[in-house]
Amino acid sequence: MAEVKGSMGGRIALKESTIYLGDNGRAFCGHARCAGATAYYSGRDLSGAPVFPLEHPDDIRHALEFKIVCERCGKAPSLIVTP
Ligand SMILES: [Zn+2]
Repeated sequence: MAEVKGSMGGRIALKESTIYLGDNGRAFCGHARCAGATAYYSGRDLSGAPVFPLEHPDDIRHALEFKIVCERCGKAPSLIVTP
């Protein structure tokens, strides 16, 4: 069981293919330009709250239902999970 903890150690915390929700309701993909550097490297939003990945199929279905896409590039969550 590998658990990735958010840290500012310079490692990338987000997956580009995943859509994330910030604590202020912002939706973005894991691309550096869309997520912003803070979320991209730490997995946390500017407020320090962890961003929520839409990874579970139920979460993804909800996101698709409510048309939640990346605010910046328009990427939609996919039920096909890529590592
Ligand atoms: Zn994006």
